[in-house]
Amino acid sequence: MIYKNFIGNQWLSAMSGQSLPVVDPSDGQLYAEIARSGEPDIEAAVRAARAAFDGEWGSMAPAARSRLLWRVSAALLEHQEELARMESRDTGKPLRQAMADAGAVARYFEFYAGAADKLHGQTIPYPEQFTVFTLREPHGVTGHIVPWNYPLQIFGRSVGAALAAGNACVVKPAEDACVSLLRAAEIAMEAGLPAGALNIVTGLGSEAGAALAAHPGVDHVSFTGSPQTGRQVAMAAAGHYAPVTLELGGKSPQIVFSDADIEAALPVWLNAIVQNAGQTCSAGSRLLVQRAIYADVITRLSELFQATRTGRAGDDPDCGPLISARQRDRVRDYLGLVDEAGITVAARGQMDANAPKEGFYQVPTLLSDVPPSHKLAQEEIFGPVLAAIPFDTEDEALRIANGTPFGLVAGVWTSDGARQMRLARKVRSGQVFINNYGAGGGVELPFGGTGQSGYGREKGYEALYGFTTVKTVAIRH
Ligand code: NAD
Repeated sequence: MIYKNFIGNQWLSAMSGQSLPVVDPSDGQLYAEIARSGEPDIEAAVRAARAAFDGEWGSMAPAARSRLLWRVSAALLEHQEELARMESRDTGKPLRQAMADAGAVARYFEFYAGAADKLHGQTIPYPEQFTVFTLREPHGVTGHIVPWNYPLQIFGRSVGAALAAGNACVVKPAEDACVSLLRAAEIAMEAGLPAGALNIVTGLGSEAGAALAAHPGVDHVSFTGSPQTGRQVAMAAAGHYAPVTLELGGKSPQIVFSDADIEAALPVWLNAIVQNAGQTCSAGSRLLVQRAIYADVITRLSELFQATRTGRAGDDPDCGPLISARQRDRVRDYLGLVDEAGITVAARGQMDANAPKEGFYQVPTLLSDVPPSHKLAQEEIFGPVLAAIPFDTEDEALRIANGTPFGLVAGVWTSDGARQMRLARKVRSGQVFINNYGAGGGVELPFGGTGQSGYGREKGYEALYGFTTVKTVAIRH
């Protein structure tokens, strides 16, 4: 199977005629190819998007846009299992998780369909010879550079919002995970999305991705991925003054005080690092535990880690393979630092005997007594590796929690109401969850970071502000 680019509701081969392999991370085998696109393909997609924005799509009444996005949402939901199976095979995500993600993409389109005709400007009190109001307008053509960890979800949250606001989109999925997005775009077309409103161009980041970020016809760029690439994308977009939203990952802390409900929390902490094999920007990858309960927490959490099963995505294990051999080796390199630093491996999960040896597997690993300044407690490993760190006081916990360059998500576990409020304010992050982690990942909840976690917000109503610009109109009577 050779997947082509989706441009102006047509399937087009890369103009170079070249392709890239699509590999199943569960067995390391090549099973399809995608187009290896470059500047000319991006040029064609930006032209198609511009034509849509200047034409039928751009002039569609907000209520009609809303109804259309409802239809897209319903169509995506009808194809939930098909999309989930495609994404599970392409990314190595356990099937249950992929089903949740395929449901989430439909939910994003549903949420933003409902908002499309409720994006109001303001009237502004001013001296009486004037009437002043603001118009909230789409940017025009928006570029979306998507990573491989949650293709459907990240597509939904960014493209759903951008379309609802009236933009026309060009999407560059990650070279390691494209196929579910190509199918999602086809489903959107079948549901009636006009030609050019949504275009997907596959290829390498350094080729198609760089061409998209630098294209002067792109009016806004939404990027999710690594801080290093995010900076390059922001610099490329600055070349033509395009605003950028950057969602760059984190090293998110769970801060656990001795008065917390440990029993309820243990499976949440496990899931926060094992879900998607730890390849989640908001993974709870640091566990800060008050010393009085530290040993007990490590013992009980170790039992849960040891009970996890790692195997083929299609067998729906707790933990699937990592996305690629490169990513697995990166995680192994981090784990190679354990011995010399005197860090304890408290627990490891189990490997399914029938998982193919050629798959890119890494079992969930719990590290205990990780020094807060060590690389393993500072850098985004992007694998199922949890760093546990003891602390004594609230001040110390806060210092450790805020002591990385990131600030995306934090969990605070305590039954002390005053402490909940203090930490909610003082933790440096875009989201803080008290006595839970992620709150079910609701599409309604604004999401984004600070520092090396990036800037701008996606999800919720807040995303619509990012995908629009405000025009002030002052009429003198
Ligand atoms: P990356 O940031 O390089 O890739 C993300 C996306 O950017 C992909 O679509 C890629 O093709 C594109 N891209 C790459 N170079 C580009 C460029 N110069 N211009 C424009 N687009 C470009 O991530 P990666 O190399 O696949 O993974 C490396 C590390 O990034 C991971 O180990 C992980 O720590 C982190 N990561 C974070 C997230 C997240 O959600 N926060 C997602 C993926 C990767």
